Amino acid sequence: MKIIMKFGGSVLDTSLKINSVVEICKSYKIVNGVKNDIICVVSALYQVTDKILSLADLIMKGNRDTIKIFIHEMTSIHIGLIEKTITNHVLKIEAKNIVSGILDEFQDILNGLVLISEITPRSLDHMLSFGERLMAPIICYSFRNSNLNSEYLTGKDVGIVTDSNFGEARPLMNTTKLRVNAKILPLLQRDIIPVVTGFIGADQHGRITTLGRSGSDYTATIIASCIQADEVYLWSDVNGLLTADPLIVNDARVLDEISFAEAAEMVLFGAKYIHPRALEPVMDSDIPLKIRNALNLSHHGTVISNDLKTSNHIIKSIIAIRNTALLEVGGGGMVGSLGTAAIIFDTLANNKVNIMMISQGPSESSISMVLNKDDLGKAITSLELKLLGKIIKHLNILENVSIVTVVGAGMRGIKGIAGKIFTSIAKENVNVIMIVQGSSELNLAFVVKDEDCEKAVRSLHKEFGLEKMIND
Ligand code: ASP
Ligand code: MG
Repeated sequence: MKIIMKFGGSVLDTSLKINSVVEICKSYKIVNGVKNDIICVVSALYQVTDKILSLADLIMKGNRDTIKIFIHEMTSIHIGLIEKTITNHVLKIEAKNIVSGILDEFQDILNGLVLISEITPRSLDHMLSFGERLMAPIICYSFRNSNLNSEYLTGKDVGIVTDSNFGEARPLMNTTKLRVNAKILPLLQRDIIPVVTGFIGADQHGRITTLGRSGSDYTATIIASCIQADEVYLWSDVNGLLTADPLIVNDARVLDEISFAEAAEMVLFGAKYIHPRALEPVMDSDIPLKIRNALNLSHHGTVISNDLKTSNHIIKSIIAIRNTALLEVGGGGMVGSLGTAAIIFDTLANNKVNIMMISQGPSESSISMVLNKDDLGKAITSLELKLLGKIIKHLNILENVSIVTVVGAGMRGIKGIAGKIFTSIAKENVNVIMIVQGSSELNLAFVVKDEDCEKAVRSLHKEFGLEKMIND
């Protein structure tokens, strides 16, 4: 079997954790006398990406002094990890030299950028890549320290070719497939564990790109689909996908298994553990994705696949998206007038406002949409400037609302689910402001006042018996 093992930054930040990551890979290397190929994908250390982003802000302000402090901190964290983890003297020195070299390059780049105090999306991606680039050699040398053959590669080295949309690049899968196979298969044949930096690719001109936050998950599934891996493991510090946010529902359960379609809904609706596009490559090739806790091996985690074995629950998860606002635009002029919606959404898109939910009744006299509260100011200004008094006559705003989403493929074609949902909510005295159900029937989402959100989630979790999911 070919197995991809992706480790998040929160399970790599102490030598104890790195040692257990090495042991995990070792334990999968030979199972029942059969040898498996392991490909390891690593994230940057916990919070390092955030720190690089904050540094970028300071560099734009021309702040030179912080660079020294930052590099000093990065050096002490990463070299400190090598010091504690790699016991073989020769390997330790080699690893330190490699990581120091990367840190020197990082510092040179930062010193260059601060001179002009300008950071473009391209240079930001270059900066961000260092978080992962510092980790791959450390993990590679930790394998070697345990007598496992290993080599480290960046996403660019491994052949992930993307478009030039810096910050949110997308892989060009055909080229990527050719290159990744050409690079990885010979390593596997020589019994080497490739350690690949997550999050990073390169565009066709060889310029470093990143795949968006949490992009290491995406790297793992891109490689999996390229080499037709048998399974992908996403190792982090959570047990799996949950039936609800445990901060809201104290008897929330870990889901044993869930379909790709359901998981995609959950990810899009804010269950934060996975990169939103990471499911695509494996969903298409039908490679199971396993979410496991590297710090709690006794928990079997969540399997995402197309082949569900036990699940007979209609509803899998109740998700709350907080911090949203509702914007309603209306006016008699909108009725039957072609292209109105297009103009409204165009205006918002041009001002980089992302819309999470939309509804329009058949009277066509108003459109309601839900967006991130932080985008509300931009949305109102742009609509006011461009459209108010013309095609739209009024703009109503409701701040502090939440979206509650009920996810589960079992809803499809089953009657009475909506009835059950809204009866349960009504019993709690919660008023529903807006409702949307996609025709895929994988989810039903509705909007409530934020102060009612937790009540609604708890009552639905109970109504559908999610606390009784047997797994945990
Ligand atoms: N280091 C990147 C981030 O923090 C990518 C990842 O961790 O998956 O978003
Ligand atoms: Mg991450």
